[in-house]
Amino acid sequence: LFAGIGYAGYGIWLDRHPAPQQQPDPNKKTLVVLGTGWGSVSLLKKLDTENYNVIVISPRNFFLFTPLLPSCTTGTIEHRSIMEPIRAILSRKKTSVQFFEAEASSIDPDRKVVKIFDDSEIKGKISETEVPYDMLVVGVGSETATFGIQGVNEHSCFLKEIGDAQRIRKKIMDCVETAAFKDQSPEEIDRLLHMVVVGGGPTGVEFAAELQDFFEEDIKNLIPEFSHHFHVTLIEALPNVLPSFSKQLIEYTESTLKEQTIDIKTKTVVKKVTDRTVEAQCSLPSGSKETIVLTYGLLVWAAGNAVRPLVKDLMSKIPAQKDSRRGLAVNEYLVVQGTRDVWALGDCAVAGYAPTAQVAAQEGAFLAKLFNNMAKTESVEEEIQNLSSSLNVKPGVNAAETSQTIEQLEQQLKRVRDAKPFHYSHQGSLAYIGSEKAVADVSWWNGNIAAGGKLTYLFWRSAYLSMCFSTRNRFLVINDWLKSKTFGRDVSR
Ligand code: NAD
Repeated sequence: LFAGIGYAGYGIWLDRHPAPQQQPDPNKKTLVVLGTGWGSVSLLKKLDTENYNVIVISPRNFFLFTPLLPSCTTGTIEHRSIMEPIRAILSRKKTSVQFFEAEASSIDPDRKVVKIFDDSEIKGKISETEVPYDMLVVGVGSETATFGIQGVNEHSCFLKEIGDAQRIRKKIMDCVETAAFKDQSPEEIDRLLHMVVVGGGPTGVEFAAELQDFFEEDIKNLIPEFSHHFHVTLIEALPNVLPSFSKQLIEYTESTLKEQTIDIKTKTVVKKVTDRTVEAQCSLPSGSKETIVLTYGLLVWAAGNAVRPLVKDLMSKIPAQKDSRRGLAVNEYLVVQGTRDVWALGDCAVAGYAPTAQVAAQEGAFLAKLFNNMAKTESVEEEIQNLSSSLNVKPGVNAAETSQTIEQLEQQLKRVRDAKPFHYSHQGSLAYIGSEKAVADVSWWNGNIAAGGKLTYLFWRSAYLSMCFSTRNRFLVINDWLKSKTFGRDVSR
C-alpha cells in the first residue's frame, strides 16, 4: 500500500515538475515520431530517449484510450477520464523529448523532412515549418471510411476522436429536446428519436448498445412519454455483426441486441445520406434487392478505416508502395518498404494484422526495443573500434585481455543484430453489447475461450481498467462508473 501511494505520489510530482527541454545533441540522431495514438505512445513509453534527439509531432496533445470512447457518447464516462496529456507522459522520460502540437502535411523521404503546420485556433507568427529527421516513425492512424458515399461527410457523426464523442453526446440530447418541443407531431418525434448506426463492427455495436442503455436507464425515466418513440437501428453490409468474432458470439450478440429492441439490418448497404434520410439497399433471401429509406434524428457512421491523405501522399512518393492500397506496406521489422529510415506502425501500416489498438501497442513496444538495440549496437561498434586501434598502436596494453573483451563485445553485437522480427501475439477481443453484457474471444494457452454475458462484462470492465494509461485515468474511470450508476448519466447538453 505504502509503495503504491509512494509511486502514485512520485508520478504526480513528476507530472507537475517536468524536466526542462534541452537543446538537441548534435552527436545523436534525430528520431521524429508522428502521432500520439496507441502505436506511438507505446513506443515512447519503452524507448530509451537518451539515445536519440526525440521529437514528437501530433495535432492531439494527449493519448486517448479509445476502447472506452463509445461510453463517452452517452456520458457513462467523462471524456477527460480517458485522456492522458502527452506532456505528462513525456515528462516521465529520463531525457527531455520535444513535442510540437501540429499536423504533418507532407513527408519528403528524399530530403528527410516533415512539413508541419499549426492547426489550432490561436496561431503565432510561425504556423508552418519543416522538421528534419534521421529516423522517422509514422504512427498517424487512419480516418473513417466513407467510400465516397453521397452525404456521409456532411450529415453523419464519426466515432474516432474525443471531439466526435462530444458531438454525438450533444446531438443525442438535441434530438431529445427537439422531440420534446411543444406541438411536435408524432411522426417528427419518431424521426428525431430514431438513431441510425452504420457499421456492425465493434465500434458500431458498442455505440448502439451504449445508446440503448442511455435511453433505458436515464432518458426513459426523465421523459416517460418517449418510451414508444425511441429507436436504434444498426445497419451492416455483411450477413452478420461483429464478423471478426466466433459464430457462437455473433449469434449471442445479435440475440442480445434484439432483446434490447435494437433493430439489426444485415446484408444492407447504405448508398446515400441526406440531412434527414438514409437510403440503403437490402439483399433479400430470394436474391433480389430492395431499396429502403429510413428517416433519422442522429446518424453515426462507423463503417471502418481509410488511409489518411498524409499517408497516401507519402505512398505516392515511394515506388515500392505503388501496389499497397490500405496503408504503408512494411517489412517484418516495420520498416516502410522502399525506405531505410522510415518505420510505420498502427492503423496506417500494413503488416498483415487487423487495425486494432492491441496490434499497434505491440508494434510500438517492438520498435522501442529495436531502436534501443540499434543505439546499443552503435556504441558497442564504437567500443570495439577503439579497443582494436589501442591494440595496434599502444604497446603497453594487455593484448590477451583486450582481445577477449573484443570477442565478448562481438558476441554481444551478434545477439543484438540477430533481433527477431515483429510477431503479434493475439490476446483476444472484447466488446460491450449492452444491458451490462459483453462478449469475449480470449486466447488461452493454445486455444480460445468464447464467453458472453454479465460475468464477461465484469471481465470487460477489469480488462479495460487494467489497460488504462495511468493510475489517474483508472481512478477517474471507476469514479465515472460509480457516478453514472448512482446518480444516472448527466443529460445536460
Ligand atoms: P470495422 O471495419 O470493424 O467495421 C465496419 C463495418 O461497416 C464492416 O463490417 C462493414 O461491412 C460495414 N460497412 C461498411 N460500409 C458500409 C455501408 N455502406 N453500409 C453498411 N455497412 C457498411 O470498423 P470498426 O468497428 O470501426 O473497427 C475498426 C477496427 O478497430 C477493426 O479492426 C476492429 O476490430 C477494431 N476495433 C476493435 C474494438 C474491440 O475489440 N472492442 C473496438 C473498436 C474497434
